[in-house]
Amino acid sequence: MGNDARVLIGGRTIDGPTHPVYNPARADEIVGRSALADAELVDRAVRAAADAAPGWAALSVTDRRAALKGAAAAGLEDFENRARLLTAEQGKVLWESMVDLAGAPYLLHESRRLIERVAGEEVADDERGRFIRRRRPVGVVAVIVPWNYPVLLAFNAIAPALAAGNTVVVKPSELAPLTLTAVLHAVAATLPDGVLNVVPGDGAVTGHALAGHPLVRRVMFTGGTAGGRMVMRAAAESITGVGLELGGNDPALVLESAVIDDELVTALRNSVFTCSGQVCFAVKRIYVHRSHFARFVEAFSDATDELAVGDGLDPASSIGPLISAAARDRVTELIRDSAENGANVRELGSKVDPGGWDRGHFLLPHVVTAITQQSRLVAAEQFGPVLPIMAFDTEDEAVALANDSEYGLAASVWSRDDGHAFEVARGIEAGTVFVNVHQAGASDHTTPFGGVKQSGIGRINGWASIEELTETQMLIRRDDAATLPGPPG
Ligand code: NDP
Repeated sequence: MGNDARVLIGGRTIDGPTHPVYNPARADEIVGRSALADAELVDRAVRAAADAAPGWAALSVTDRRAALKGAAAAGLEDFENRARLLTAEQGKVLWESMVDLAGAPYLLHESRRLIERVAGEEVADDERGRFIRRRRPVGVVAVIVPWNYPVLLAFNAIAPALAAGNTVVVKPSELAPLTLTAVLHAVAATLPDGVLNVVPGDGAVTGHALAGHPLVRRVMFTGGTAGGRMVMRAAAESITGVGLELGGNDPALVLESAVIDDELVTALRNSVFTCSGQVCFAVKRIYVHRSHFARFVEAFSDATDELAVGDGLDPASSIGPLISAAARDRVTELIRDSAENGANVRELGSKVDPGGWDRGHFLLPHVVTAITQQSRLVAAEQFGPVLPIMAFDTEDEAVALANDSEYGLAASVWSRDDGHAFEVARGIEAGTVFVNVHQAGASDHTTPFGGVKQSGIGRINGWASIEELTETQMLIRRDDAATLPGPPG
């Protein structure tokens, strides 16, 4: 019972059918059970949020700031136990779970800074009359999140949604719902009933019902491109706006002007393998100028070989297992396909616990060279600990290869000449292009983030989120009405 993810609607916990949530490091171990909210519960949750919306929207700036301060404190409760629970259900190493979990109090706290600006009105008086420009909350916001960084990604949307005066219904991923749901219950208890609701469940039933509910006014979805497409279809029924943070196939370009030293190699290695490569904006392909290629591959392989794969709760582990057997099989298949098509595949790293290896969804890190741009490993979002490295001769060629993808989430350019790197960055089709860095945290809550092409729609973080989660309203009085063109006839 202690770890269970339960439905929360209008401040009340509701019991019903559940499913087990397993530990990816010991796949036969049940960490807790999660509710499977059906369409009727989703409807009740959305109606509770709709009922709470006018009261929450009407709060003064001071009262909403105070409410979110209490919510942030609740997000910090029981931190260490929750971080361990997150590693147990998700697999990643403990420090990563702490970063994920810290997102809840941090983002709630930071979002308080936005409230005053949200409430601000611009009044313009001129000879034509008076024009007041203001923002209204959209109403009920649906937040649907994946399993890799469940808490941080949920609060990326929840915190600004609440700051803007919206009420929220959250659907966690069925693969890692326990910690997020625990945090949501704690945070919701500090807010008026119905302001924050949670419906754990699966995508096909719970997520679909939520995205298509006619009283939901905005869907903030983080997940794969296929899921985003389905959410858009469901939301289209009610002309509901969607914010989509989808997958990526981020390229890193190591230019001729780069220095291949430990700092560069370690930074790139970490941006590839953090969370076992299961990060939306992990580096997923590296293009290196031919003059550096052999040296870079050797240094990168050596750095990768230092990684120890094991249970995320074991301090000896530098990376944990993949989320599921299906995920491990999919990545293994991409590696096998590369090898069968002539690529040079190197399995690296070490096993923390060789005896327990087969109990978890573990996969050693792999580095792949002698691979073509057309191969499945390069074209797909591998979302696992395997990295293709390719050589280029000219920067135009490198930029063309980087842009040769239906994804466009993030990218990075590496050079000792920052100015030149920024020039190259301008040519890359991605929502964010980093220079000499590429990691979670480099795009922080103040920096607009989102993808182009099939990596998404819209931008999140700070004020960018507020623009997604409010509607501009104009209040107009015209003193010159008599001079204006009227309706025909
Ligand atoms: P999915 O798209 O499978 O799932 C994301 C969420 O959507 C889950 O809660 C899922 O439910 C739900 N869902 C699935 N189908 C539907 C549907 N038809 N209607 C409504 N909801 C649905 O992604 P993953 O969980 O596999 O996460 C990995 C993907 O997320 C990767 O592609 C990654 O790049 C991307 N991602 C993007 C980020 C970004 O900021 N751009 C950040 C992190 C990840 P359930 O799983 O419970 O069935």
